[in-house]
Formats: sequence, C-alpha cells, structure tokens
Amino acid sequence: MQPDHSDWLTFDRRHLWHPYTSMTDPLPVFPVVSASGVRLKLEDGRELIDGMASWWSAIHGYNHPRLNAALQRQSEKMTHVMFGGLTHPAAVELGRRLVELTPEPLQHVFFSDSGSVAVEVAMKMAIQFWYGTGRPEKKRLLTLRNGYHGDTFGAMSVCDPDTGMHQIWSGLLQHQLFAAAPQCRFDSDWNPQDIDGLQRLVEKHHQELAAIILEPIVQGAGGMRFYHPQYLCEVRSLCDRYDLLLIADEIATGFGRSGKLFACEHAGITPDILCLGKALTGGTMTLAATLASERVATGLSGGEPGVFMHGPTFMGNPLACAVAVASIDLLFESDWQSQVAQISAGLEAGLAPCRELPQVADVRVLGAIGVVEMKEPVVMAQVQPQFVEQGVWVRPFGKLVYVMPPYVMDGQDLARLTSAICRVVAIT
Ligand code: PMP
Repeated sequence: MQPDHSDWLTFDRRHLWHPYTSMTDPLPVFPVVSASGVRLKLEDGRELIDGMASWWSAIHGYNHPRLNAALQRQSEKMTHVMFGGLTHPAAVELGRRLVELTPEPLQHVFFSDSGSVAVEVAMKMAIQFWYGTGRPEKKRLLTLRNGYHGDTFGAMSVCDPDTGMHQIWSGLLQHQLFAAAPQCRFDSDWNPQDIDGLQRLVEKHHQELAAIILEPIVQGAGGMRFYHPQYLCEVRSLCDRYDLLLIADEIATGFGRSGKLFACEHAGITPDILCLGKALTGGTMTLAATLASERVATGLSGGEPGVFMHGPTFMGNPLACAVAVASIDLLFESDWQSQVAQISAGLEAGLAPCRELPQVADVRVLGAIGVVEMKEPVVMAQVQPQFVEQGVWVRPFGKLVYVMPPYVMDGQDLARLTSAICRVVAIT
C-alpha cells in the first residue's frame, strides 16, 4: 500500500512502535516502498543490498515469484479458517514436509504464529509431559547464558538475564536455571571442562527440571556466538542420563543458515522438541512450528486434561502454510548447500580486513552468518545512516555488527556488502 499523504513518516514517528525503541525519542526509520531479490527500495529511490534477510527469514530474497504465486493460489481458495475442528490441505502438506525433513523421532507438529509463541508452546509441552507422566514437580527449565528465545513472558524467562533485562520483570518471570555460556568455539578444540557448569546444575536440580532449552550451535540475538558441537552432544547425553527433555530452538538456525539444514546436525543429535520459525515461510508470512517426539506427544496426553492446552486463533493459517510449503520446495530445488558455502567463503574473505582494526574484538563466520564484534557498543544513531549511505542494510546491536544475507545473494553484491561493513567499521 502506498501512503497517499506526505506525512506518513511523521505519523509513524508519533504513533508506531518499532522493535526495541523509545516512543518518546525514537531513532529515525528508513521508509521502504518495495523489496525485490536482495534489494530494499527506499522511498527516495535508493536501493540497499540487504544483509539481514529481515532477521534470518528472507532466505530466497524478496518478492520471489514462486512464493508470490503460492500466496495468490491459496488466497483464491481461502486465506484463513479456524484450525479447531477443521483442517485443510496447506497445513497437512506443510506438516508432512516438516515430519519428513526433521529427524525420525519428531512426528508431531504444532503450528503457531511466531517464534516466541513456538517457544512458549515448547515449554508448555515439556512441563505438561512431566505432568501427564506423573512427575508434576518437574517444571523448571535449564538454559544457557547469552541465550535468546523471544519476548513473551515464558520465552523471556529463558533469555539471558542481563541482556534480557530480567530486572525489569523481577518477581514476574518464572525463576529458571542458567548455566554459563559455552566457551569452546565452533572451530576450536573441544575442552571437556566446558560442560562442567551445566553438568553440576543438572546433577543438583534434575528432579525439578522439565527440560533444557537452548539454541543449538549458534547463540543468536544473545551474542552471535558459535559454540562447539561436542557441547551439544554432552547436553544430549546429560538429558538422557538424568531424564530431562531437550528443546532445540532452531528458529534462527533452521533451514540451512548454519550450513546444515538444522544446526543440531553439526552434533548429530535429535532434540525431543524442536522450534522452527523465521525462514519457515521464506520470510513472507508470520508462522512457526513446534515439533515433538512421539514420546513427548503421547506422554503429555496422559492423565487429566489429556489434551495439549494451547490453540491460537491463527493456528495453521492457510496462507502462511501454503507459502511455507513453497519455500521449502524452493529450498530443496536449489543448491542451498553451495549457496551457503559460497556466502560463507565470501563473508570470510570480505570481513577479514576488519580483523586488523583496533576497534574490532573478533570476526567470525559460520554458514551464511558473518559477525564483526566490536570492543565497544556501536552508536546506532551514527552507524545506521552510514550503512545506508554505503548502499547496504545492516542493523547492528550492542557490540555486534552482523549479517545473514539471503542465500540468493551473488558474489558481487556480497563483496559490496562486506566492503561497506569494513568501511563503516573502520570509521566507527
Ligand atoms: N528464538 C530465537 C533463537 C530467535 O532468534 C527469535 C527471534 N529473534 C525467537 C526465538 C523469537 O521469534 P519471534 O521474533 O518470531 O517471536
């Protein structure tokens, strides 16, 4: 929709909240009028190469004809219908694909509207599983520092207490357990002591713990850290040994971003509950899914109430499911492994000069994710316009300047993106 009045930015500034912003003193926002391929078009005609894939989601780029066609086809049949007591082909087709492409134990799919809700659903599944199997005292969660799982209350309770600003919600958030964040980097040697802290917490608290929840391999919004696959193997075996469920939040990493279809594959482990979102619809519609193993699904159905207590109005929205089916098919028709590997190589080469800069603490790349960690937090009001002037869309937070481009970005655009980052970082 094109606004028909010239003051729409003024209205936006005065009335609309944007993510994590002040209503009384918001930073400027940039008006986008269209997006195509890897480019965002601003109202003044400038085009930006998009480094963010709209926060991990637009893996095929924008305005993709296949995704648009799927939306159009579905919209001619029905855009929405309640999922209580009804079902429809788009949900079944998507469910079939998700069951097929995730590990064998994950057989049961719960659709919801966003990543945060998928996490809420996962937490409720874990707690209701123990309730249904006669261990109602197992209802706390154990998680990692530097984690991020969403902004709703349950999800916030398992976000890093410092970066998640738990002090604001003191007394309101469920009191969960936090292990130190893994220190062993993805590409370093494994240090068995890395798991000690988490192991001690499991040994002490397993009787009251329902599950461990974590982001496998890539800790995203809580620090953009890539940790060692062996850590994940150790967590899985602790869960087995001490009777805890493992919830893998692959909302950011799912669908190829880390170089594997799912980040758990780096460690060869299977969670009991898996959360997906973001790239599920190729970034076109809001949709998430929580998958549960046969054991979890049957366990939580035991005893009273015998049903899973969740049911969002827009559960299994047909438009979102139809476009998710098209996005998954598109992914598997493409050579996504090579695309991600090429982006990985391009990010490595293109961001390498940042390593030499005194203001840079670390540069790291995994799959199609590139991170430049600064020594000091960046001043958003200063760097955001600089990126736009350089013709790229990069949205840093804290000390982290990071990108996760659409998989379809070619070498030339990627080089322009990385050299813009190097230039802006150099003057920051
Ligand atoms: N989990 C992870 C790992 C995420 O990265 C995010 C979003 N950044 C969420 C959960 C929450 O998803 P949403 O923003 O769709 O609620």
